[in-house]
Amino acid sequence: MTTNGLQLAPEKSECVVLTNKKKFRNPDLFIHGHQIPSKRAIRYLGVQLDTRLSFIEHASTVAVGARKAVAALGRLMPNVGGPTQVKRQLLMSVVHSRLLYGAAIWSEEVSRFQKSSNVMLQAQRCAALRVARCYRTVSDMAALVLAKMPPATLLAGVRKQIAAAKKAGAALSKRDMMADVLRRWQNLWDSTGKAAWTKRLIPNLSRWWQCGPREVSYHMSQALSGHGCYQNYLWTRNKAPSPACPHCTAEVDDAEHTVFVCFFWSEERKEVEQSLGRPVRPEDAMDLLCGPSAAELPTEVPLRGRILAAAEKRKVQFAQMVEVIMGRKEELERARQREAAVE
Ligand SMILES: [Zn+2]
Repeated sequence: MTTNGLQLAPEKSECVVLTNKKKFRNPDLFIHGHQIPSKRAIRYLGVQLDTRLSFIEHASTVAVGARKAVAALGRLMPNVGGPTQVKRQLLMSVVHSRLLYGAAIWSEEVSRFQKSSNVMLQAQRCAALRVARCYRTVSDMAALVLAKMPPATLLAGVRKQIAAAKKAGAALSKRDMMADVLRRWQNLWDSTGKAAWTKRLIPNLSRWWQCGPREVSYHMSQALSGHGCYQNYLWTRNKAPSPACPHCTAEVDDAEHTVFVCFFWSEERKEVEQSLGRPVRPEDAMDLLCGPSAAELPTEVPLRGRILAAAEKRKVQFAQMVEVIMGRKEELERARQREAAVE
């Protein structure tokens, strides 16, 4: 180093042993008589290198940074009002740049270790909750789907692919890469034990990604996540005296009951049901939110146009139905809580 005109500051230096062994002895390393301390992980060019190169320290460090960014940006994003979902996604891209720094180096290892990928996912969840105006209790998997944010580990894999292609001088198609991310995301979605209600409403991520609404409102987010102003949800959190529906005899008031079943809201469902020609069911949500799938559309242009126009109308009607039901339900719940406080 000195022959190249470089100098090392021994008092600022530290070292890390890279090994697969569980038991090892840290070396007694001296430079100019100064002992160099051995650490579990050291920061090199912005990436934390740990003994086993598992990048768990790196994942934890960037997750802390990302959470700080979410906390600062989250103040600009109230659940009611505030910026549109596209703007929220743009603001939260800061979180992704923090999380994904140096991803080409660590993506494989982090994806392999559940602990590391979970740490990343939890930081990303905080951002997704803000983007999709969700209650704080919504699971990571559901929040990411509603916010249309692919899991960080999959995005890290894309960065690695891009870096490898650049090195090899090959061109990568953006569309193919996205299709690959959606395929992997769908596998995670199919296998997760979380978000059962959201999964029932939105089983197909590719269709949701391409044709789903650009904006998930506060009320729509409650309907799609199942976490919202429902007696069952409030009761499990000690905020309601019972899980039963206050408007009918049903013993459990949840998202399915409120949005699709309870007769108290039948007038609000009328328009959508007239358009469908039958009662609306949770299994209709995908068609109502995304329109008909391309494979189902006829090739005949005028007929295709009519089907698409009708689907667009139903999309608006369904969004209005959810807004009115959830908005009124919230007002009634606030009144109930006021009465309970007076008593
Ligand atoms: Zn009811």
